[in-house]
Amino acid sequence: MKEQLLKNPVFQMAAEQFDRTADFLKLSNDVRERCKWPKRLLTVSIPIKRDSGETEVFFGYRVQHELSRGPVKGGLRFHPNVKLGEVAALAMWMNWKCALMGLPFGGGKGGVTCDPRSMSEAELENMTRRYTAEMLPFIGPQTDVMAPDMGTNEQVMAWMLDVYSSHAGHLVPGVVTGKPVNLQGSEGRTAATGHGVAFLATRALTKCKIRHENATAIIQGFGNVGYHAALTMERFGVRIIGISDVTGAVHNPEGINVKELGKHVAKSGGVVGFTAADSIDPADLLVQPCDVLVPAALERVITSKNAGKLKCRVLAEAANGPTTTEADAILERRDDIFMIPDILCNAGGVTVSYFEWVQNLQRFQWSEQEVLTKLDTMMAKAFDRVITFAQRNKLPHRVAALALGIKEVANVKKQRGLFP
Ligand code: GLU
Repeated sequence: MKEQLLKNPVFQMAAEQFDRTADFLKLSNDVRERCKWPKRLLTVSIPIKRDSGETEVFFGYRVQHELSRGPVKGGLRFHPNVKLGEVAALAMWMNWKCALMGLPFGGGKGGVTCDPRSMSEAELENMTRRYTAEMLPFIGPQTDVMAPDMGTNEQVMAWMLDVYSSHAGHLVPGVVTGKPVNLQGSEGRTAATGHGVAFLATRALTKCKIRHENATAIIQGFGNVGYHAALTMERFGVRIIGISDVTGAVHNPEGINVKELGKHVAKSGGVVGFTAADSIDPADLLVQPCDVLVPAALERVITSKNAGKLKCRVLAEAANGPTTTEADAILERRDDIFMIPDILCNAGGVTVSYFEWVQNLQRFQWSEQEVLTKLDTMMAKAFDRVITFAQRNKLPHRVAALALGIKEVANVKKQRGLFP
């Protein structure tokens, strides 16, 4: 299994980051091995009837990285490129993210290899319900709590809640987070990841002595995270000058109205054809001058090819794993870029998921203001801890963030001991 996982480039990247940080922390071999490898890797086949009447089998995964510190927590992804190794890498990053944020969760990630853009609502519903049914023995509010990720949304969570609750015979809201607010979802959850990204980006700009009212930003990805990061930054006074998605990219140095672009995408299915900006090659957009660059899509998009050419001051990693190991080495030599590493930058989503889970357990609803105030406090605290730890130990921000998370898990592993 180790060899199989390491063959996946995304897992290899997560493993390299882990090894480097474990070396810094001088973890013993015992703790290192127990922290590095996922606890459970589940693979299920998901047969569904397509609208055409044909039966098709999809494959779905859930990787639970660690069970020592609480229920597993992490998103469920629907995307054509989903592979077990990639899901395992994302689960490992979730693990360090939860630990860094001080959440009582282990990390997990799920995925189904499919193209949700080419599936009807009914097909998506059937696939989601069957995936959830296959996962029933392994999920629950005290064991594993899923949430939206790429290609999934609050409707998908509502279907999952329905399958789980129907099976239990009563409503179990805490089995998923990121659900609709009227189904005991949390106020502020949909915007939480993007809000957190925007909040930390402005803190980073302040560190770089740039006033965010004069700053510009470019965003790769216009899904839930990219959209809300853009919208919140715009609200903070940042000028959004470039946005890309799977269909292409648009650029306007005078600024792009995020809500207007959102309306265009809702109508036409993508950013291309938005007339209030010029179209630009998506790869070119990444290397245009800006103050904040926000990769908010897939893994491995900042590579050895473009890392040296980036013209941003702050790199805010809204996506999980957007920067390759080779690109990291280049960025570390560039002292003109302030990096906010993924497990810190996009932690707003899982943090509000934690708030949602707590509200569900308490059968209580917090106001949006309460949620956002608590979120900002926790993000600011984690940001300050990472930056201080990095400075004190002369570490890149990524290694500092990972070290704070991994240290937490390693301590629990030591305390609990090795069974039998
Ligand atoms: N999918 C999100 C992430 O990568 C959120 C996970 C959650 O809320 O559990 O952090």
